[in-house]
Amino acid sequence: MADTIVLYPSPGIGHLISTVELGKLILSRHGHQFAITVLLTTGSVQSPSITSYVGSVSRSHPSISFRRFPLVSVDPAGPRRSPAAVAFEFIRKNSDHVLRSLREISAASNVRAFIIDLFCTTALPIARELNIPTYYFFTSGASALAAFLYFPRHFERSTKSFKDQHGVVLEFPGLPPLKATEMPEPTLDQDDPAYGEMCDFCDQLSKADGILVNTFEALEPKALDLIASGACVPDAPTPPVYCIGPLIGDESSRASDSAVGGQQDCRSWLDKQPSKSVVFLCFGSMGRFSAEQIKEVAAGLEKSGHRFLWVVKNPPGHEQGGGEGDVDLEALMPEGFLERTKERGLVVRSWAPQAAVLRKEAVGGFVTHCGWNSVLEAVAAGVALAAWPLYAEQHMNRNFLVQDMGMAIGVEQRDGDGFVSRDEVERAVRELMESERGRELREKSWAMGEKAAEALGDSGSSTAALAKLAQIWSHRLS
Ligand code: UDP
Repeated sequence: MADTIVLYPSPGIGHLISTVELGKLILSRHGHQFAITVLLTTGSVQSPSITSYVGSVSRSHPSISFRRFPLVSVDPAGPRRSPAAVAFEFIRKNSDHVLRSLREISAASNVRAFIIDLFCTTALPIARELNIPTYYFFTSGASALAAFLYFPRHFERSTKSFKDQHGVVLEFPGLPPLKATEMPEPTLDQDDPAYGEMCDFCDQLSKADGILVNTFEALEPKALDLIASGACVPDAPTPPVYCIGPLIGDESSRASDSAVGGQQDCRSWLDKQPSKSVVFLCFGSMGRFSAEQIKEVAAGLEKSGHRFLWVVKNPPGHEQGGGEGDVDLEALMPEGFLERTKERGLVVRSWAPQAAVLRKEAVGGFVTHCGWNSVLEAVAAGVALAAWPLYAEQHMNRNFLVQDMGMAIGVEQRDGDGFVSRDEVERAVRELMESERGRELREKSWAMGEKAAEALGDSGSSTAALAKLAQIWSHRLS
């Protein structure tokens, strides 16, 4: 019987892409040993881009098969829930499908491992019941993983929601402290149904057969030592951690790149700019600013005098008319800004091909929301970072990048709402693009990019970690 690795991503194209990239990586090194099956939920965050993405992967990688679950819906009329709570509920409602699929796949092949991500914790006991080793794929870095493994200690001690603990700073052994109000969203509010599920996820993380992390050893040695020392899970054994990254998504898989086609191609604009002269500002797939914040960024960029490429999404709640690219820049920008800066700046609506942009010779600095994929893409391209976190685990990533790894400068945000003034935008851009510190960061990032490539090479640490996993999987008794 063939050997199969089953992957189960959380709903949404972002999770699916990361999971498929993991599948492709396994196949690229161990395709002679394993086939890959991806369990695909239907419903919830469903978009046409998922169907076209799955179609293109099936054509380019026939050894990856997708097993689509029947439609499951989460009652939108129920009590108001956070997106995380809906995702957890949605996955829970798919439990029967997971069970049936794992049974059927096991009847036809040896399922050597079941790999899940964040929202899929309820699938863990199902696989365990079937005696299938289960691994988490942790799509942020090892430093964030160390903090997540330690979170249950803070959950136990907190009688009040973190969102209400103003002025409280949470300590983590061997990691930078974190303001309680900057914890990742699903943990902020004890009344959010996602809170309990998140606690469960953090608890179960340490009980998995192993954790695959999208990072590489040279980037986060301190955090990896910390995890290995057992300090993050003091009362139980810590599962083995495998750094298999950096996994950087394939450009052609980004449906959104073409979704906002029509607009000026920023890549050809970048080709005309001098080397390392452009600061790139992009805030992830969901980063939206208020109209006031957008004007403030514009004013700061203008005062800095630097060349810039800036991706702007509509403010929250703004009518989305004709789709993703439908952003009225004239209305959002300060009067005359686009005209005054047209020789040295380009504002792009909604989406830019970020990984490709970062690799352009003209880009010297990146103001980022610290989403982990963005961090890895910038490091792989050798670009200096300025950290401006917005949501999820990004505040933690900012602390790690600035305080631990020395890979970024911090952007000063107002307490409470995270607002950044025009003066601070100007200061951060100048520091990134003009200062000795900015130059050092570029060099450091460049050197780290070389280590990233080494990690994925034939004798690299990430290749070795994956080989170790493959060995464990193939030696499992059927
Ligand atoms: N991305 C992009 N263009 C954009 C915004 C985002 O290509 O305009 C890509 C980016 O390259 C990265 C992903 O979307 O691969 C965002 O992932 P990340 O983990 O950085 O942040 P998230 O969107 O999950 O907050």
